[in-house]
Amino acid sequence: MSKTLFEKIIDREIPGDIIHEDEHCIAFRDINPGAPMHVLVVPRKPIPKLVDATPEDQQLLGHLMLTCSKIAEQEGHGDAFRVAINNGAGAGQSVFHLHLHVLGGRAMKWPPG
Ligand code: AMP
Repeated sequence: MSKTLFEKIIDREIPGDIIHEDEHCIAFRDINPGAPMHVLVVPRKPIPKLVDATPEDQQLLGHLMLTCSKIAEQEGHGDAFRVAINNGAGAGQSVFHLHLHVLGGRAMKWPPG
């Protein structure tokens, strides 16, 4: 199976502005930021979409959420930030390796477009 774009960033085969790494996940700045802070939190395990996660991934999913909070705080936006997951092309997913968008540093509208 060929590697996902994000596996290539994890494996340093293509560059990424990496700001966090641990045994379960990596976080790097989005190449096309939608906010002053726009970081992607990506599990090392290449789960294609949120819907593909299983009960076996429960701890990992929790870890990803806690990592989002840690990063938002680290970046100075712990008071106001948004975490988003696009599941499926119809919801705007373009990279099929699960990732959490962490956005902050500007006013957020609801519902998102
Ligand atoms: P999604 O549309 O939810 O699948 O999000 C994919 C995100 O990956 C988009 O916000 C892209 O801007 C971002 N992206 C694509 N290629 C790269 C890259 N090489 N480095 C960092 N972010 C990327």
